[in-house]
Amino acid sequence: GILENKVAIVTGAGSGIGLAIAETYAKEGAKVIVSDINEEHGKQVVEKIKSSGGEASFVKADTSKPEEVEALVKSTVEIYGRLDIACNNAGIGGEQELTGDYSLDSWRKVLSVNLDGVFYGCKYELEQMDKNGGGVIVNIASIHGTVAAPLSSAYTSAKHAVVGLTKNIGAEYGQKNIRCNAVGPAYIETPLLESASGDMKEALIAKHPMGRLGTPQEVAELVLFLSSDKSSFMTGGYYLVDGGYTAV
Ligand code: NAD
Repeated sequence: GILENKVAIVTGAGSGIGLAIAETYAKEGAKVIVSDINEEHGKQVVEKIKSSGGEASFVKADTSKPEEVEALVKSTVEIYGRLDIACNNAGIGGEQELTGDYSLDSWRKVLSVNLDGVFYGCKYELEQMDKNGGGVIVNIASIHGTVAAPLSSAYTSAKHAVVGLTKNIGAEYGQKNIRCNAVGPAYIETPLLESASGDMKEALIAKHPMGRLGTPQEVAELVLFLSSDKSSFMTGGYYLVDGGYTAV
């Protein structure tokens, strides 16, 4: 595999896109720290990876809590000895309201997971990667890192900020052998979208020129490329995997 012997963290790896990324990393030879706030789901993913011959361990962390993210990186080094790759994927959707009606609580909650959580991840991952001579970070943004999601101001704001944070890290760590990129998926078939009604789903599909939603694996393939040496001259970038959503 192209990640043979690399040590990787994936946050929010208990479900959806993070699950596909964790499995893909493991399939390519990485030792994977499957992290999630949901212990049951995270442990199931570890079992799944192990039963197909991969190497993985579960470490619980709520990414909105800096001390838990710091402990996640520390545990990774205790378990596998170093840190080469981190995918900051954990994220939530949040309330759907016009910006003028958006509750202060929901704003705070979405920003605390989707932005603060990614910052905490990067902060502690960078510290460790610098110690072990280099590494790669992939932050999961969204198409809403560049276009609006009406009724989800908090989500759009957080995802735009993740793109900015990623650019800054690219600018700062270029000479330290640490690369950082963000990805922008359009709407992907995951549990995050399961609550959407049939009509809402049809309306969402219609916004994608390819006439369908994406799959978690299609996001994982881009993340794998950005996590591997195949993308060795790429940093500070933001890459779409969106079925043409933002092209129209
Ligand atoms: P999902 O709900 O299927 O999975 C998210 C996982 O993150 C869950 O296992 C959940 O337990 C975990 N999680 C939630 N809050 C957490 C926290 N505070 N700390 C640690 N773990 C936490 O969602 P998904 O669709 O796979 O989304 C993953 C990422 O992809 C998110 O950042 C999301 O914004 C982004 N994204 C999703 C879509 C989509 O259409 N599904 C599109 C673009 C971007």
